[in-house]
Amino acid sequence: MTAKTVALPSQLAEGLPLTVVPADHPRSDDERAKILANPGFGTNFTDHMVLVRWTEDQGWHDAKVQAYQPFSIDPASAVLHYAQEIFEGLKAYRRPDGTTATFRPDANAERFNNSARRLAMPELPPEAFIAACDALTLIDQDWVPSEGEMTLYLRPFMFANEVFLGVRPSKEYYFCVIASPAAAYFGGGVSGVSVYASEDFVRAVPGGTGEAKCGGNYAASLLAQAQAAAEGCDQVVWLDGLEHKYVEEMGGMNLFFVYGEGDDAELVTPDLTGSLLPGITRRSLIEAAGDLGYRVTERKISLADWRDDVRDGKITETFACGTAAVITPVYTVKARTGDFEIGSEPGPVTMRLREYLLGIQTGTAEDTHGWIHEIG
Ligand SMILES: *Cc1c(COP(=O)(O)O)cnc(C)c1O
Repeated sequence: MTAKTVALPSQLAEGLPLTVVPADHPRSDDERAKILANPGFGTNFTDHMVLVRWTEDQGWHDAKVQAYQPFSIDPASAVLHYAQEIFEGLKAYRRPDGTTATFRPDANAERFNNSARRLAMPELPPEAFIAACDALTLIDQDWVPSEGEMTLYLRPFMFANEVFLGVRPSKEYYFCVIASPAAAYFGGGVSGVSVYASEDFVRAVPGGTGEAKCGGNYAASLLAQAQAAAEGCDQVVWLDGLEHKYVEEMGGMNLFFVYGEGDDAELVTPDLTGSLLPGITRRSLIEAAGDLGYRVTERKISLADWRDDVRDGKITETFACGTAAVITPVYTVKARTGDFEIGSEPGPVTMRLREYLLGIQTGTAEDTHGWIHEIG
């Protein structure tokens, strides 16, 4: 790969100029190639990062693209004590023509602001969110893999950085974007997961933070994930917080149930009650399924219905969806109230949807919805 000269945006938004300070010691072509040959997930990072500050007096200011580097954080920094932190996740793809693009970054920007409001944090102009992702993708474009289903995973996040132990919204924040090359989630073809439906722990309750993409939700989920692993399962499935009855999500992914088969198949996905995270993959699949002629219903589905409808042959496939893994089939469900098997290989509706969506994302299929954001 040869480094092209890139023109970065001169500002992230009106009145928010972007200063570019290129890394003094970027990885060599050889070092980068070695990492890209086996990137794993979330352990290797590119040469740069975007950093923007917010203070009560100045609002958003001091936007920079600079070398990837550690933060220096005061021990009394608010985020370390009260977890005022939100994040997003999206991917940059290498297009067949060699350019790069992201998938619906406007939807991530909008959800980021919804999360910010819930966590009493300042909103970021959506154009600044998108420009920050673009700037990092451009300066580190040689890190966007071109092999198979490999991508560059972008992680925008914001955290409270005021030095203060009182309990109220911080008066200072950092917005940051980092990027990590990601291997295809499933190296050798698509494989399915086993799940443990947690009847002891809940992820979210009505009025809580389940709709916000905040780190605290994940901290609270780890024990249930450990319980699922102890039960021999790959992932935890969350039930609703009030009745512990209705299926909400799987780990950090939304769920779809396929009723019937062939062209008559109907898709059911839990409705957004306020305690589910509104996935952009979920939203996109609802539209994509329509393109392919499937009926889609958003409604409640209980764990008991899931089990009964699988047993009666009404539910033929179940899959989870999210940015990281796109679509993951669910094969086995374990729960205190009874285990059941859905299948042992990816179902045809699952695979058809997966190929259709991946085609749009990677640029091999037509983007009829205007979901692709070309970066350059
Ligand atoms: C991010 C996330 C999802 C999936 O959202 P996408 O926008 O599709 O990646 C689902 N559930 C939880 C809890 C999440 O954090």
